Amino acid sequence: MADITEEAVLGRLRLVKGPDLESDLVTLGLVSDIIIEGGKVTFSISIDPRRAAELEPLRQAAAKAVGMLAGVESTLVILTAEAPAGGAATPKASPVAAPPRQPDARAIQPPPPAPGAPRPRQSPGGALKAGVPGVEAIIAVASGKGGVGKSTTAVNLALALAQNGLRVGILDADVYGPSLPRLLSLSGRPQPLTGRLIRPMEAFGLKAMSMGLLVDEEAPMIWRGPMVVSALTQLLREVAWGDLDVMVVDMPPGTGDAQLTMAQQVPLAGAVIVSTPQDLALIDARKGLAMFQRVDVPVLGIVENMSYFVCPHCGERSELFGHGGARHEAERLGVPFLGEVPLDIAIRTTSDSGTPIVAAEPEGKSAAVYRAIARNVQEQLAFAKSGRAPPRIVIED
Ligand code: ADP
Repeated sequence: MADITEEAVLGRLRLVKGPDLESDLVTLGLVSDIIIEGGKVTFSISIDPRRAAELEPLRQAAAKAVGMLAGVESTLVILTAEAPAGGAATPKASPVAAPPRQPDARAIQPPPPAPGAPRPRQSPGGALKAGVPGVEAIIAVASGKGGVGKSTTAVNLALALAQNGLRVGILDADVYGPSLPRLLSLSGRPQPLTGRLIRPMEAFGLKAMSMGLLVDEEAPMIWRGPMVVSALTQLLREVAWGDLDVMVVDMPPGTGDAQLTMAQQVPLAGAVIVSTPQDLALIDARKGLAMFQRVDVPVLGIVENMSYFVCPHCGERSELFGHGGARHEAERLGVPFLGEVPLDIAIRTTSDSGTPIVAAEPEGKSAAVYRAIARNVQEQLAFAKSGRAPPRIVIED
């Protein structure tokens, strides 16, 4: 079978009209970051971020055009920020050179609901909301800011849910710093299965997929809310996840437009907010909470990470950061408190070595903590789905 060449890919993309509907994508200089690996072709199309939702058919047309090349088994097309003016003639125009500007996700955000009006479950343009076939529930693990242990919590929560007997997938949507490949020692590229479907990676009984596995980490790319969603759509829809009870999505940190758009477009059954005990983080956690409430996604609860320190030598417990803040805050805000994870060196070292603590030491104290949190999540999820009032969780000290 002949190798796929960049020229052949560009040749197909010359047949696709750009956003102006006159010239083609290549002539307009909108194609960049072409990566060809075996039968898998990845490339970016630079667009005006404000038109991302309306240009989704363009992305699909480009994928289809390249997909028709002999030897192409799957395509990943990412809409990225507009190329700089003057870069029109070169298909190598790097989106990183685009002037930074505020993403504008207004086009696909719902208007704020009128006071007292019933809030729509479906967001405008929310085609994704239809759910992912075979996946019972998708939950987001989110944090108001980076560095609070969101990814660590997401991966250990996923493993704990699996140890509780569920079929679990984990999707790393933290496109700003995908950490799943490192946390689960995933390497290589996901393999194509049939047609447009990609086979998910597997690790410790989890199905796993990360943007980090698909995009070259060195590839310069400015991610914008709507574009992140378009890449995420593919990860949800074009990966052969199979039947799953729960899919855990590791969200990008923060509460900006990218996060809001994702929260709004992905068919989430609920969200888990990770926070550290410090006040500052709690302020951020509140923003996270407000974000999900705004888009009508049930908040399953708050996890307090790095809650207390257990000395690895003497076992003494120290409340380093004024432990208990997240629990009180959760009570005050009327959201469930799901549990507290200690600051434990072993949690970091096991993560760094690519076998998270729940898999590395399933009999240990930390694994038991994560399994208890997972049970609380399962309970809250069941209630969120039933539409009844959630149970109050009581956590013994
Ligand atoms: P985020 O996803 O919020 O940016 P990470 O999950 O990457 O945060 O965690 C940041 C760092 O803190 C990592 O080095 C991780 O191993 C470490 N870490 C996270 N939670 C704990 C914990 N409970 N105990 C010890 N180290 C932790």
